[in-house]
Amino acid sequence: MEIITEKPGKLEELKRAVLETAKKAYREKLMAGTSGNMSVFWPEKGWMVITPSSYDYEIMKEKDIVVTDLEAQVKEGCHKPSSEWRMHAEIYKHLPHVGAVVHTHSPYATSFAVNHQEIPVVLIEMIPFLKGKLEVSPYAEQGSAQVGLNAVPILKRKNACLMANHGVVAVGESISAAYTNSVYVEDTARIYHMALQSGNPAVIPGYEE
Ligand code: 13P
Ligand code: ZN
Repeated sequence: MEIITEKPGKLEELKRAVLETAKKAYREKLMAGTSGNMSVFWPEKGWMVITPSSYDYEIMKEKDIVVTDLEAQVKEGCHKPSSEWRMHAEIYKHLPHVGAVVHTHSPYATSFAVNHQEIPVVLIEMIPFLKGKLEVSPYAEQGSAQVGLNAVPILKRKNACLMANHGVVAVGESISAAYTNSVYVEDTARIYHMALQSGNPAVIPGYEE
């Protein structure tokens, strides 16, 4: 295990941000049970600060957050990192502009992911936050690197995507930005779902991609 000598407060700051965001996402019902996971990347070290695998969000504390490199070598922490660490690592390896990844199973968005149904640009927030329509990345086995590799081509252009038969992955420069994007994904899916019940949702002019 590497001894951390520089910037003693940095890791604590990143762990706290991951913990607080995970608890907020759980409270907001973006994930049920222990599903979902999130991380921030510390590029100078090449480390991810990530939620532990299958761990109750209600009792999660700062000490439970795991620090690993992109090969899952644990630098700090007493739990296993999220089983989706390979997805997080592939996103950081391929997309240097990404500083944080938020993965949820938020229900309205996941229902579209189950249907392999993309969501067109029907709401103004989709333009600045999500960078356009919500696309669906192909299905890959849970925990495999392919989960991330399938999302990367979409996340090159977009700040989020639906993952077929699984959930949502949102990215941002910071964990607060990635979290906000994940909230807009669910909000968009919920409103689009409601609009589909009562009529024929119209795409914003100029965004019929
Ligand atoms: P973890 O609890 O291992 O992070 O897995 C949850 C999940 O969402 C798997 O896709
Ligand atoms: Zn998942």
